[in-house]
Amino acid sequence: MGLIVQKFGGSSVANAERVMNVANIVTDTYKQGNDVIVVVSAQGDTTDDLIAKGKEINPKGSKREMDMLMTAGEQISISLLAMAIEKLGCPAISLLGWQAGFNSSSAYGAARIKNINCERLNKEIDSHRIVVVAGFQGINKYDDLTTFGRGGSDTSAVAIAAAMRADKCQIFTDVEGVYTADPRKIPNAKKLDEITYDEILELATLGAQVLNNRSVEMAKKYNVELEVLSSLVRKPGTIVKEVAKVEKMLISGVAKDCDVSRISVIGVSDEPGIAFKLFSRLAAKGINIDIILQSVGRNNTKDITFTVARSNGEEAVEIMRSFIENVGGSDIMIDNKVAKVSIVGAGMETHSGVAAKMFEALYSAHVNISMIATSEIKISVLVDEEDADKAVAAIHDAFIN
Ligand code: ADP
Ligand code: ASP
Ligand code: MG
Repeated sequence: MGLIVQKFGGSSVANAERVMNVANIVTDTYKQGNDVIVVVSAQGDTTDDLIAKGKEINPKGSKREMDMLMTAGEQISISLLAMAIEKLGCPAISLLGWQAGFNSSSAYGAARIKNINCERLNKEIDSHRIVVVAGFQGINKYDDLTTFGRGGSDTSAVAIAAAMRADKCQIFTDVEGVYTADPRKIPNAKKLDEITYDEILELATLGAQVLNNRSVEMAKKYNVELEVLSSLVRKPGTIVKEVAKVEKMLISGVAKDCDVSRISVIGVSDEPGIAFKLFSRLAAKGINIDIILQSVGRNNTKDITFTVARSNGEEAVEIMRSFIENVGGSDIMIDNKVAKVSIVGAGMETHSGVAAKMFEALYSAHVNISMIATSEIKISVLVDEEDADKAVAAIHDAFIN
């Protein structure tokens, strides 16, 4: 018995039958004597549909109005779930993000949670109600509604678990836990019983959608133990915590990210300060750089290649055009048909030969590597987008099976 936070994603509440299924899970937990706070996402593809509606009216609509539009999705699912819980004979109340005390920064579309004023949540819990909170939304200092970025309901759930010092935070989704690769793409991917915060943080950042990376950062910071599990099959999922049980696996997962553009700036001067001048222009516009590759200088010139999120590709090219005009350089190239494939594993720190084995797997699958980046617990390669699934499968076979 204790306080349990349960989060359900869009597919878990996609239709009336699924909403009733969630209500059953929640009320079972409540009837076992627990206090329950539920965080829900918008039903099915509602958020995508709302974004499309907004873009149809005005492709350049303001971010404030887009947030006003998107927050409506979660308002539908919380009221439906509260009514479903009432139908099963338990007391429930739905709350929008601001009613639940979510104060956020002002950045519409990508707001950060500043704090949660838990007064209302505590009051409702003290009245023994099941509280159903709208995910991915808060209110800023101008009293405007904000959203936390796509997939942000995971972060709402972890934030409530941290602020309310919950005993458990369960993230229910449409797969049975965290797998060694996306189980929808790699049928023989293995479900992990446990994984560390650091490993899932890398996997989430590198494209595994199963948990939002900000939610993992927050869980690690406030030591919230998470469980990722299925809303459709009742069995234990994957526990995410600081130190995971040591399994005999070097690699905990393979991830793919297609939200990548590769930009090359050709023929820049081979002298000190060029990289600084180039990347500070991108930083000034808030563009994050991922992998960087600089060629060896020849005839006093060199090439600098880097990757950015695809949504930033065109803007980065514009910035590089003005860089060439002002600082020097001969050409710019952009490639949007690339993908990043990565392996993650804490075991890599103490084992040699992991990179070689990964590259061998790619060679055997006839996949060409155009860039490489490594850290203590991950190796990423850039490949042609059309080779990405083949690359994931080949690497997964080499390490996991
Ligand atoms: P929700 O709507 O519940 O938030 P998401 O669609 O955001 O669910 O995340 C779940 C999906 O993440 C799964 O359906 C699966 O296809 C995908 N996924 C990608 N990589 C992994 C992985 N390593 N383990 C589990 N699921 C993964
Ligand atoms: N509904 C939002 C989205 O689709 C938030 C979430 O699902 O976590 O991104
Ligand atoms: Mg999600």
